[in-house]
Amino acid sequence: MLSVGRILPFCGRLTRSVLLWFDTEADAGPGPARAARSEHVNWLRCLPFIAVHLTCLAVIWVGWSPFAVAFAAILYVARMFAVTAFYHRYFSHRTFKTSRPLQFLFALAGCTAVQRGPLWWAAHHREHHRHADTPSDIHSPHHRGFLWSHMLWFTCDAYFRTEYQRVKDLARYPELRFLNRFDLLIPVLFAAGILLLGMGLEAWAPSLGTNGPQLLVWGFFVSTVVLFHATFTINSLAHVFGRRRFDTPDQSRNNWFLALITLGEGWHNNHHRFPVSVRQGFRWWEVDMTYYLLKLMAALGLIWDLRPVPARILAEARGASDAAAKCEVTS
Ligand SMILES: [Zn+2]
Ligand SMILES: [Zn+2]
Repeated sequence: MLSVGRILPFCGRLTRSVLLWFDTEADAGPGPARAARSEHVNWLRCLPFIAVHLTCLAVIWVGWSPFAVAFAAILYVARMFAVTAFYHRYFSHRTFKTSRPLQFLFALAGCTAVQRGPLWWAAHHREHHRHADTPSDIHSPHHRGFLWSHMLWFTCDAYFRTEYQRVKDLARYPELRFLNRFDLLIPVLFAAGILLLGMGLEAWAPSLGTNGPQLLVWGFFVSTVVLFHATFTINSLAHVFGRRRFDTPDQSRNNWFLALITLGEGWHNNHHRFPVSVRQGFRWWEVDMTYYLLKLMAALGLIWDLRPVPARILAEARGASDAAAKCEVTS
């Protein structure tokens, strides 16, 4: 039977979770720090994450149109680029330089992927590289299992906070701290923009066969959920399936399929061998769309000082490929 003694703590947890949806630093202080060490899924705080998945079922009611599906695909590719180029290769590894206004725009673009703020993302990713596939790794599939490495790790309180001391180089920019603290703001505005665009297209271009709710469900919800899980495969599958060109201390793999769906991130064994290079496909056939687009941005003068793969690492890669080819011929 429900009692006041059980309802009151639940209401407290619910209030705290709702506050954290909008302000990720709402519980900063000595009190909740104990709870912040919990490695159990915090279902209340993760309700928006669950809701984004469930809302995809609305395709049953809103239907589809070629325009809405193409729009979802374009937003998937654009936001995957924002995650790989900016959250990963810029904020996490500083593999190139840019101006402060563009840095802010890169953070804004990354926020539309709904993968928390740029500082939270970079802080945890740097920690992954520091301890990759050891018991201290926050998302190793070899110690905590596939589901943990794929998505459970960020659903618990232990990894909810941004460890600012790991990203001091980024935390000195107040505009980045603001986006990081209120990390739901940009996704909500982005979704609202898509809804308005769909409503506008229904009125001004009815031949496209779309409308506000349909464009919102496909362009935001479906596209975001596919984007979530494609990104997460780099933490889960790219440490299990694929080839190991370099004998790195971790279990990272090169996987062409994952590289294809993540615009180059699937060359993960290469990346763990030399994380500070802007390029992750080390051989000409290792397609790395993010790198090609970053080269284009550099040619346009938007970014500069792209850090290359050193000649000794490229020679190591060539040597490893030649040795693998010889083995295949002789076996
Ligand atoms: Zn990794
Ligand atoms: Zn990395």
